[in-house]
Amino acid sequence: MTPPHMTRITLSLTAAILLLLPTSAVAKSPEEIYFWVAEEMGISVDPVLPEVHFVTKEYLGQALRHTSRASFKAWEVEYGAERAESFMETYTTGVVGLYDVQNNVVYVGNFLEGCRREAILAHEFVHALQLATEGPVGDSGPAVALVQMFREQEASSIERRYAARCSQGMIP
Ligand SMILES: [Zn+2]
Repeated sequence: MTPPHMTRITLSLTAAILLLLPTSAVAKSPEEIYFWVAEEMGISVDPVLPEVHFVTKEYLGQALRHTSRASFKAWEVEYGAERAESFMETYTTGVVGLYDVQNNVVYVGNFLEGCRREAILAHEFVHALQLATEGPVGDSGPAVALVQMFREQEASSIERRYAARCSQGMIP
């Protein structure tokens, strides 16, 4: 005869699997998204993914502030402390994802759902792969702003492509 606790375990496992099935059939793992992005960029990649963390809006804001210290200093010099702080607030309020170049960590807002969350993850993976294949923006000489703009455009375009295919229920 099956001990009562075994029955309970079996039942709760079944419930967990049933609950997981509908989402796991749709949601992509970070690995799947990473390799999709690499394919879109036409590059072969190191199979080691950046670390991925899903974090709160507050955490994202703090991480952005931390990783943008150099930009902030430059804004302070160019525009003064008050305007620099107002720029920073605009960025920290709007941020939904971030790639920490120093530590190779991707942060994505845990308040995002479904395709939006995956598309932002795809965007940040583009930045990780840009760094891996093209090196740091800072090494790009006098064209830093231009390179930064190109990289942002590439990331945004892949993000949009991912979001469009995801919302149509197409497996990326
Ligand atoms: Zn970006």
